[in-house]
Amino acid sequence: MANPKRKHSKARTRKRRSGYYGGLGRPDTMACERCGTAKLRHRVCPSCGTYRGRQIIEVEDAV
Ligand SMILES: [Zn+2]
Repeated sequence: MANPKRKHSKARTRKRRSGYYGGLGRPDTMACERCGTAKLRHRVCPSCGTYRGRQIIEVEDAV
């Protein structure tokens, strides 16, 4: 049976994990179609409070 000859170094394991699990994934952003700011995909825009052209939440900016 194929077996690893050597134990992986901590650096090797950590380098691998840095890409996906345990590490920060790359933030999945896009420009909002209404106000144009960068927002997360499939989320309500934090700036104007809309998602897919509909007003979802009220955003008060001048408090
Ligand atoms: Zn927006």
